Amino acid sequence: MQGLLKEWRRTHYSKNVNSDLKEKEIIIMGWIHEIRDLGGIIFVLVRDRDGMIQVTAPTKEVDDEIVKQIRNFRKESVVAIKGTVQESGKAPNGVEIIPSEIQILNLANQPLPMDPTEKVKAEIDTRLDSRFLDLRKQNVSSIFKIKSQMLRTVRDFFYNNEFVEINTPKLVASATEGGTELFPITYFEREAFLGQSPQLYKQIMMSSGMDRVFEIAQIFRAEEHDTLRHLNEVVSIDMEASFMDDIDVIKILNNMIQQVLIDIKTNCSEALEILEHEIEIPECNFPIVRYDDAVDIVNSKGVEMEWGEDLSRAGEKALGDTMDGFYFLTEWPSEIKPFYVMPNKEDPTKSHAFDLMYKDLEISSGATRVHQYDLLVEKIAEKGLNPDAFKSYLKAFEYGMPPHAGWGVGADRLTMVLTGTNNIRETVLFPRDRRRLTP
Ligand code: ATP
Ligand code: MG
Repeated sequence: MQGLLKEWRRTHYSKNVNSDLKEKEIIIMGWIHEIRDLGGIIFVLVRDRDGMIQVTAPTKEVDDEIVKQIRNFRKESVVAIKGTVQESGKAPNGVEIIPSEIQILNLANQPLPMDPTEKVKAEIDTRLDSRFLDLRKQNVSSIFKIKSQMLRTVRDFFYNNEFVEINTPKLVASATEGGTELFPITYFEREAFLGQSPQLYKQIMMSSGMDRVFEIAQIFRAEEHDTLRHLNEVVSIDMEASFMDDIDVIKILNNMIQQVLIDIKTNCSEALEILEHEIEIPECNFPIVRYDDAVDIVNSKGVEMEWGEDLSRAGEKALGDTMDGFYFLTEWPSEIKPFYVMPNKEDPTKSHAFDLMYKDLEISSGATRVHQYDLLVEKIAEKGLNPDAFKSYLKAFEYGMPPHAGWGVGADRLTMVLTGTNNIRETVLFPRDRRRLTP
């Protein structure tokens, strides 16, 4: 019995074919990107994950059967091509393949719902409707190569710093912080919700003695607004560490981002080039702007902001005009931060909460947490929430909860910064927004 592909196996990706392989027979596999039939000679560009290779068929020199096969090619069909490598001044990589045998593995239908060669530009909605085709474009797949490197660096960073990777439930009984940003679901005969944050679980884990934990997982927010930086399902990189405070975890976040930038600059140079994006490695310590000073900066830019208010979009933009690159915003008012944020001992109107910003984009929120049971109950009630609804969370604070701190980074927003994209939909394979639930 004949196996898959007549026992053919790919010998090379396009990027690995170069003049060192001159006169050698190789097998490439990929998609038909472009066909140019000049009569006496046919040029076919075959594309794979990392690039393209030219297949050149002088019609008098190659087999008639091959010429016939090539003339039947349809764009974006999947092929396997066996042939000999030759030098060629005009082809990508300076080499071409003279085919000796071709297998058409799957014919693509015509017309294509969108053009992956980008001769015709498509709107984001058309692109997302045919995301698999959209991803065949190198400028699109490059975003996800960079995102993958980022996630790899983040994981390595945590492991190198003695963190334990955890998984917490995404089906939850009640809200993390109250609020209306929850997706209700039917859980047998009860109502439940999709998790908006692993916050309460990673805190419970501090009482487990695990000491340092992290999780990379989806969070769900029923936010109705339609912006370039919000989606309803995103990936959150969360950490929590015992016997640490905001200063400690700011340092950890700073170091992690620094490592991500270095690794991407080093390992993703091709993807960055395709995206025409440059990564700058900032000074070791990102600047710290206290909330009080942020209010002054925002007002000085003509955007009204009172002490105690959250940053408006205009406020974020005003700050972003002043601050270049990454910076921390610290000492937020307690009033606008969740109940689990530790208030400042001397001045409880202020808190030990911080954000990491990149220009006008919030990348992360974190804080020293309240670890004292009585204070926590008080703060829950203060926020107008019912402590009874938090019983299983509060229990962990009754029997030896260490002081702790942590943060959550929006992985998709961080990817926006790393790839120089301004729409979060570009950094998520299958984005979920108010209007989109497919594919
Ligand atoms: P924003 O004020 O920008 O809406 P947030 O303060 O509500 O964000 P947090 O609850 O602090 O968000 O979540 C921590 C991080 O998770 C944010 O800094 C952001 O990077 C990311 N994040 C939260 N919600 C979203 C969302 N809807 N879309 C994309 N990223 C999000
Ligand atoms: Mg926040």
